[in-house]
Amino acid sequence: MDNTPKPPEIKTYPFHPVANRFPMIEGDQFKAFCEDMRANGQREPILVWRAQIIDGRNRLAACETLGIEPWYDIKDDDYFENEERAIAYIISINIRRRHLTQGQLAALAAECAESFASAAKARQQATLKQNGTVSANLREREKPQLSANLREAEKGKATEKAAEAFGVSSRSVESAKKVKEKSPHLHAKVKAGKISVHAAVKEIEKTEKQKAEHAAAVDTYPADVQFKLKSSKYNPLIIRAKSIKEDGAALLKLAEGEMGAFIDINRLAASLEIVEAIVKAGRPHSACPYCRADRLDKKGCKACKSTGWVPKLIFDQAPPELKKGGAK
Ligand SMILES: [Zn+2]
Repeated sequence: MDNTPKPPEIKTYPFHPVANRFPMIEGDQFKAFCEDMRANGQREPILVWRAQIIDGRNRLAACETLGIEPWYDIKDDDYFENEERAIAYIISINIRRRHLTQGQLAALAAECAESFASAAKARQQATLKQNGTVSANLREREKPQLSANLREAEKGKATEKAAEAFGVSSRSVESAKKVKEKSPHLHAKVKAGKISVHAAVKEIEKTEKQKAEHAAAVDTYPADVQFKLKSSKYNPLIIRAKSIKEDGAALLKLAEGEMGAFIDINRLAASLEIVEAIVKAGRPHSACPYCRADRLDKKGCKACKSTGWVPKLIFDQAPPELKKGGAK
């Protein structure tokens, strides 16, 4: 039986989503943080506003680990003028504590721009509700256009607000937003400080170029090319081959007999060569240059029909830089 006393139930609040954008202390650093709290107690309170933890996630985690009752500072609802002010506050204390690269700041700003935008939207909706005195007819008629314009303007403003809060340019936030939209993987790398926003944008442009070439490669297939012979029993190729075999046998029998047969040997040989070439061209030639090495997702690859290999015709037409590493 485990006789260690259970830690007391600790009252907690949900974390503010913007606070959650920042990494927590981990590993040895967290152990040291806990040791300090065990020795000296909780030095600073956990800030709570509108039933959410604005600051102090690590303090709360340490309290939970040590089984200490957390010290909260619960602010009044009007402590921050509005949600956007609270968001700006969370950002400012978090970036002051950490050494973040320009790229990391821009990536975080791209994430937080959404929070600024939704906070602004909620504020506007609250204001609209308050201003219920406007003629209902006028409101209904003007609303769609008005709100579309507002939305665009607010998007821009949200980016500016996020850029300002993180101390980076709006342009770098726009770039970081583009990276976030197009590649969650690269966004994570920028956020972790592994690559710059500029390098991520370049990488995306490169992939987009490859995708365009990839799309162009699809045109190298003749319109009536068939990838799989779905039902060999009824496939026109099989039916034709069978009838050639039967007619050919009958004709040879005739040719060997008394009457003989008129066969244009040269034309037949030339035609058979074409048939042979077409059949051979359908065989696997090399790994698909378009999706090889996971540069692109094989799933949905039109050049190889997601099989991972291509026939010679398609391989020969692929851009040379994709063929580096060579055929199989
Ligand atoms: Zn492919």
